[in-house]
Amino acid sequence: MLVSAKEMLNKAKAGKYAVGQFNINNLEWTKAILLTAQEQNSPVILGVSEGAGKYMCGFKTVADMVKAMIDELGITVPVALHLDHGSYEGAKKCIDAGFSSIMFDGSHYPIEENIAKTKELVGICDRLGLSIEAEVGAIGGEEDGVIGGGEVADPQECKMIADLGVTMLAAGIGNIHGKYPANWAGLRFDTLDAIQKLTGTMPLVLHGGTGIPADMIKKAISLGVSKINVNTECQLAFAAATREYIEAGKDLEGKGFDPRKLLAPGVEAIKATVKEKMELFGSVNKA
Ligand SMILES: [Zn+2]
Repeated sequence: MLVSAKEMLNKAKAGKYAVGQFNINNLEWTKAILLTAQEQNSPVILGVSEGAGKYMCGFKTVADMVKAMIDELGITVPVALHLDHGSYEGAKKCIDAGFSSIMFDGSHYPIEENIAKTKELVGICDRLGLSIEAEVGAIGGEEDGVIGGGEVADPQECKMIADLGVTMLAAGIGNIHGKYPANWAGLRFDTLDAIQKLTGTMPLVLHGGTGIPADMIKKAISLGVSKINVNTECQLAFAAATREYIEAGKDLEGKGFDPRKLLAPGVEAIKATVKEKMELFGSVNKA
């Protein structure tokens, strides 16, 4: 069922595990993630960037597809449909389209403007029962045209934004989007610890979950991270499985060119990746 992310994340924070946000790109992606969540009896968050929303013919198309799929597939675990790195305008469009959760990424605004815009959106989400994620300290790397410099968030600024009543807070702690460089310095647990001390029970969000070693993920969860975003890893798994199918010449055998056959290995690869993450994050059987 489609729900806000609030209850599932508060439960995760209290239970010391994290719920995965898996970004979707099309029908196959969505189906793979929903089926895996149901199989693992895990809550799940479907992430949609503004770029992916545009690609899928708009947020309404996405919301209607997700709702119909939940219904048609008999998905009973809690599912949140969440705008990832939303602009102020994009957040409003998703609210109108029927998303159950939004992220407003005001990290590129001066802190005063980030606060003003976040506050307005918190008011709207509260009235409608939606969850809202805010961000402090840009997350490094590039995701769908959103480029962050990889700064480390100021814990005091995190507290200011948390106090506006957001549901969950993303804070830059040295994490980046995409693949991590070989010389990456690792997560800043000192900063994460300071942020959690100031923000208390608020669920914290870790972006750029692809390629962070398992022990760092576990430590981040122990320090209050309750939502972890995974995007690149599913893309890499899908691409590798599709490449293998074509390189083995399977598209040339019989009806192997049928898109339902051609895309099947990629779908299985996404399912395996999502399952592995749910096990690592500890969300299996927490629906
Ligand atoms: Zn992100």
